[in-house]
Amino acid sequence: MKPEHPAPIEWHFSQRAQQLQSSVIREILKVTMRPEIISFAGGLPSPETFPVERMRIAHDAVLSRQGKTALQYGTSDGYAPLREWIADSLSLEGSRIMPEQVLMLSGSQQGLDLLGKVLIDEGSKVLVETPSYLGALQAFSVYRPEFVSIPTDEGGLIPEAVPEIAQGARLLYALPNFQNPTGRTLSVERRSALVHTCASLGLPLIEDDPYGALSYRGNPLPKMLNMNPGGVIYMGSFSKVLTPGIRLGYVVAPTTLIRKLEQAKQAADLHTAQLTQMVVYEVIKDGFLDSHIPTIRSLYAEQCQVMLEALEEFFPQEASWTRPEGGMFIWVTLPSHIDSLTLLDEAIAQNVAFVPGAPFYANTPALNTLRLSFVTVPPEKIREGIARLGKLIAAKL
Ligand code: PMP
Repeated sequence: MKPEHPAPIEWHFSQRAQQLQSSVIREILKVTMRPEIISFAGGLPSPETFPVERMRIAHDAVLSRQGKTALQYGTSDGYAPLREWIADSLSLEGSRIMPEQVLMLSGSQQGLDLLGKVLIDEGSKVLVETPSYLGALQAFSVYRPEFVSIPTDEGGLIPEAVPEIAQGARLLYALPNFQNPTGRTLSVERRSALVHTCASLGLPLIEDDPYGALSYRGNPLPKMLNMNPGGVIYMGSFSKVLTPGIRLGYVVAPTTLIRKLEQAKQAADLHTAQLTQMVVYEVIKDGFLDSHIPTIRSLYAEQCQVMLEALEEFFPQEASWTRPEGGMFIWVTLPSHIDSLTLLDEAIAQNVAFVPGAPFYANTPALNTLRLSFVTVPPEKIREGIARLGKLIAAKL
């Protein structure tokens, strides 16, 4: 006989939960999972670059040598050898980063939430680029800040514009390398100007840098962290240089802030998975990334080139787009009367997808923008997808 259950509960969500929304991108991704769709929508790294066999061997090695430690609870700050490795890799002559300044995270996305928790009060001003990373806007939104959009041009955010909008601000969130969503890179001059402006205003500067290692040409530009380790909060991730499924990232900051973040992390998840940290350390400790990262860079550089050439060939000249020097994204600006959300519906009907630009804006959106990711689509499909999009756009002129 079927048991009689009491009536289901009627949920009363907190005010905070009531204002939560699903990420627009995750909603679009559900549609674009269909195999016939050519999707430029995902922000996913290419699975071709995942070092599956290395990870398997490292799991075996860690479990057979240190299985009991790997499967035990760990410390909230993270696995010490890995924190040392990160501190060393970020240290430069004259700018030494100490392991105590590193907090391991369950994905760098967790750091955005923890930073929101410890730095943002309701109504606090938070300065963000125009446009900015949607996931950060989402993470900070929970703490109900007042977002202030920093004026931006082709070179990214304009440091000179910061002082007049920074009155009373709690933090500035910047993505200097191959920004998500625009693919733009902030010049060394602007980095330096931004660091000095923030320091003189006493304004904490978050440098979110998951794509920094993926520079197509030569060495990445200097990190703002090394320009002022006392005032910059640096966020790094293993998602784009190893694999995102392991959910491993880190934040580097002065120890007073790290201790506070650690308390917030304890409440959130006690600590980042010990096995994962030990396996990643096993994979990278002897220099694996030095040979692995160049293979990711050259794959992405090639795919990017294919997309740029296709845009040149198939998009009307009324459209413009960024030419990234690394990372995973191109940002397109269409003539101002074209709404990319309407275009998306038409594109999906033609089995092509992208992410409309509006959700990346904290304030007034530019509706005629969109983000294209080129890393998971094979070259012939890139051309086909861009050709279809180009036709749809041309029909609107
Ligand atoms: N910051 C930026 C700019 C990102 O694009 C992403 C991933 N899409 C993250 C942070 C979060 O990365 P993860 O949590 O995988 O480390």
